[in-house]
Amino acid sequence: MVTLQPAAAQTPPTTDAITPSDLQLRLKTFASDSMMGREAGTQGAFKATAYIAAELERLGLTPMGENGTFFQNIPLGVQGRDANSRVEVDGRSLSLWKDFAPLPNIPTLFPFSTDGSRDGVEAVYAGRLGRNPVLTPEQAEGKLIVYGAPLDANGNPSFEIWAAGGLDAYPTAAAIAVATLDITPAQALQFLQSSLPQLLDEQPDGSAPLGMLLSRRAAERLFGRPLERLLPRQVGPRVSLEFLSTNEVSEPPARNVVAVIVGSDPALRHQYVAIGAHSDHLGLLQGRPLYHDSLRAFNAVVRPEGEETPWHPPTPRETSRIREIRDSLAAVRPDQRDSVFNGADDDGSGSVALLELAEYLIHAPERPKRSVLFVWHTAEEEGLYGSEYFTDHPTVPRDSIVTEINVDMIGRGDSADIENGGPGYLQIIGSRRLSTELGDLVEAVNTRDNHGFTFDYQYDVDGHPQQYYCRSDHYMYARYGIPIVFFSTGSHRDYHQLTDEPEYVDYDKLAAVTTFVLDLAQSVANLDHRLVVDKKKPNPKAPCVQ
Ligand SMILES: [Zn+2]
Repeated sequence: MVTLQPAAAQTPPTTDAITPSDLQLRLKTFASDSMMGREAGTQGAFKATAYIAAELERLGLTPMGENGTFFQNIPLGVQGRDANSRVEVDGRSLSLWKDFAPLPNIPTLFPFSTDGSRDGVEAVYAGRLGRNPVLTPEQAEGKLIVYGAPLDANGNPSFEIWAAGGLDAYPTAAAIAVATLDITPAQALQFLQSSLPQLLDEQPDGSAPLGMLLSRRAAERLFGRPLERLLPRQVGPRVSLEFLSTNEVSEPPARNVVAVIVGSDPALRHQYVAIGAHSDHLGLLQGRPLYHDSLRAFNAVVRPEGEETPWHPPTPRETSRIREIRDSLAAVRPDQRDSVFNGADDDGSGSVALLELAEYLIHAPERPKRSVLFVWHTAEEEGLYGSEYFTDHPTVPRDSIVTEINVDMIGRGDSADIENGGPGYLQIIGSRRLSTELGDLVEAVNTRDNHGFTFDYQYDVDGHPQQYYCRSDHYMYARYGIPIVFFSTGSHRDYHQLTDEPEYVDYDKLAAVTTFVLDLAQSVANLDHRLVVDKKKPNPKAPCVQ
């Protein structure tokens, strides 16, 4: 009888050098349909993280997860609203989802308590939601703060309460309500009603305000007149609230993968240059599978940046352009249904780049002086939970991490993907937000080693509406004052679409970015001093501000 070969042995081995073909080989495995979209807390993500750990084991890296393994399990689970949550005004109950909708705890958006009761608290009207609070913190303390709907750029009432700012203005209030329930679209309401991924051991301690949306009817019942006719600081009746949540831990567990290449300098090896990517993605499409080529043709015309471009019904002109593309593809191959979010670029590209860096460095003739810490974060797509957990519970002393280099989506960026795109196109974010020296070093390495990248800094501007600074794992390091730099080749038609597949990745580009990260990491690791932090450190528990 023949012995069955383990799966890993069937893939041809990669070489020590960082090459386009090694990266392609790895990505074909990592972003294959068999990984089922790598959604954190599912079998697919479990399998993908097992592949990373098996490679690290084979290469001989030092495990730096928990209990001597490469893994750090995170307490990811789903949290829903318990139907017994209630709000009472003058002894009369408001109706859940019709009159009030509890807000979930999304640390970066709504830093609210999800469980707790507040008895007989006084309601106070605080004007429209916005960045300029009308109450003093003392006036808001222990009260139910009721806001009118914020105004959008055209002066119309808006349901987009997170874009308005100001939700976190009164951290000592008992509860915060915004009267937007009637204008909240069904899809957004469904989101509030659904069970959301959470770190179940890191819920706010209950002293944070409860949060909810209120219907106009309920808000007017509170104050006895239309909100338009209320003056800020108007006081209403006493209200009692009790919010409850349901919690379910993910099985199999979601897990970060953590490994180290020990530095060569006995004095400096206790400091780490961290390099990060996220191994998870969006999983499987719920509902009917879609035709791959048709979807791609549609997005090429209507959503050139994928999920980043808002959907709109195509105009007649656009429809004929979509048909043209679809028909020319159909002439080459039959269109096929697809239901797997492969996440080849997002962030398969960064995940396999880290493996190539590990493979290069472990066999390099000379190791860097400082140690190199590799972290494949999980649950980035759900809300940066893997990196939040790792930085709250680091497996090396937090202060020993001298910088974090984050790569997320680094395999695209040609002229068909993005304006000004091309072989040297690279977006860079955050490089000078804590350390001017790091920002300068990034530029110097690009010039010194002839990488020839043209850095696009536009997404790094303060207040940029796309908020990239707050939207990938590097932020979780930056909030603790660790200098970070984030590299990405940017968004494209396949971003968060079923069509983000290995066949559309530019492997020469991916190899070039990976090699640049290598040179940068080595430069920081070999500095004769620790990178100087010359900017103000943020409050690690405050919401991110770009
Ligand atoms: Zn993503």
